[in-house]
Amino acid sequence: MSIFKNIYRWLFRSLANQLLFTYLLVITIALFVVSLWALFMIKTESITDLRNSLEVEAVNLGLEIDNDLALDSIQAKQRIKAAVDRHATKLNVLITVVNDDGHVVADSNASVAPSSGENISNQAEINDALAGILAVATRTSPSTHTDWYYVAYPVRAAGTTQGVIRVGVSLSNITQRLRHDLIVFLEIIVATGMVTVLISLWLARRVNRPVREMSAMAKKIALSGDMSEFVPVSRRDEIGELGLSFNQMIGRLREQERVRQEFIANASHELKTPTMAIGSVVEALQAGAGEDSTLRPQFLNSLERLVERQSSLLQDLLDITRLDGGSERGWMDRVAISQVIHDAVEQIRPQAEKKDLVIRLNLDNEDSFVPGNAIRLQRAFVNILTNAVNYTPSGGVVTISVTVQEPGQIQITIQDTGVGIEPADLPHIFERFYRADKARSRSSGGSGLGLAITREILARHHGTINVESTFGKGSTFIVTLPLAETAETARAEDQGNK
Ligand code: ADP
Repeated sequence: MSIFKNIYRWLFRSLANQLLFTYLLVITIALFVVSLWALFMIKTESITDLRNSLEVEAVNLGLEIDNDLALDSIQAKQRIKAAVDRHATKLNVLITVVNDDGHVVADSNASVAPSSGENISNQAEINDALAGILAVATRTSPSTHTDWYYVAYPVRAAGTTQGVIRVGVSLSNITQRLRHDLIVFLEIIVATGMVTVLISLWLARRVNRPVREMSAMAKKIALSGDMSEFVPVSRRDEIGELGLSFNQMIGRLREQERVRQEFIANASHELKTPTMAIGSVVEALQAGAGEDSTLRPQFLNSLERLVERQSSLLQDLLDITRLDGGSERGWMDRVAISQVIHDAVEQIRPQAEKKDLVIRLNLDNEDSFVPGNAIRLQRAFVNILTNAVNYTPSGGVVTISVTVQEPGQIQITIQDTGVGIEPADLPHIFERFYRADKARSRSSGGSGLGLAITREILARHHGTINVESTFGKGSTFIVTLPLAETAETARAEDQGNK
């Protein structure tokens, strides 16, 4: 039992074994069936040939002895015996002649055939032939244990059966030939099996090597994160394609790893600056500034600003990693876009008022809805508006316009009359940690993450963001969002989410 279990395990341990075993099984069965069929056909054909030649012989002999068979004389019997012997020796067959009542008149070999005078009409083929039918029979000789094939031919004259000529031949020749053929077939089967094994092993090695290489590399990446190597690809078949995809995957993983490390480096760098500043303020306070009644509030104020900046930076970092993780699900609502804009404007209004900025709000349609998350969308617009306020000098104007566009889209533009963005910076401002004007942006508390977060949030809403700017004159951010198609589908969606 355990041997079978082991064989079974070995078979299904590798793809190569499974292929090999399947090929071998199919080929052996197929060859075996074909061989059996061929042997059967050979046997049938040989017997048909034999029967035909025995029949011809019987007919010829019949023509020779039919007259003598009618005469019941000793001479006639001797003539019959001579003819029988002649034919039998010529063809190496056994010939027995019986008269019309089934008694043996002559036979070519008394040791094998029945003796003279014996009544053998009880033997089926003799009986049939006496009735006038050409009959055949196969029998095993009790003395020699070989198969004999008999053709019994009725000798007829004047409408009656005069007797029967039975020609018999040993089937040992045919059996021998069949045995020989069987051995040849078996040899072919074994040889084919061996060739199959060799070809399968060769094929399996060809397929296995690259698969093993890839598997080893995948293991290495999984265990140690080592992505330093690509798999060698030298083939153009499916395995080669798999190798290419595998390498593409490694490339992608490397890129992701690079981006991740860059992000961590940037984030640490961003966190380091305010932390060091906090450190020096605390140091100054400890060194005595804390006792000074004019310096103390100043230092505490800057400490508060630094901590605020630190926490807003941390919030940004948290937000972007959360967005990257895509862990938020089921947060789709039916959001009234005018409400979101309204809330965002109210959130930045205090800062705008501090800088004497005018905020204009042009709402086109009060009842526009987008499928999404109100808090996230508000965050996206607050980021754009914060920039507009930060990068617009006192007395400037920030204009927000909402227009419904065909087909099923809403467009929100946020235009400021601020410092604008240099053309060289324009393509980069949505990148993480990118600041167009490092000094000013940092002093205004920017982390360089705001627009990256905004773009990420909008992408989640299948929206887009673009920017147009004239350096020194102001910038316009254009946001588009797909609308909830109709009130009904939005409601259906709502119910679907519940
Ligand atoms: P930050 O937090 O530094 O503002 P953002 O990702 O929000 O980072 O913006 C990236 C950069 O794009 C900013 O540093 C700034 O230089 C530029 N920028 C964004 N909005 C404006 C604007 N309305 N006017 C001028 N420059 C802008």
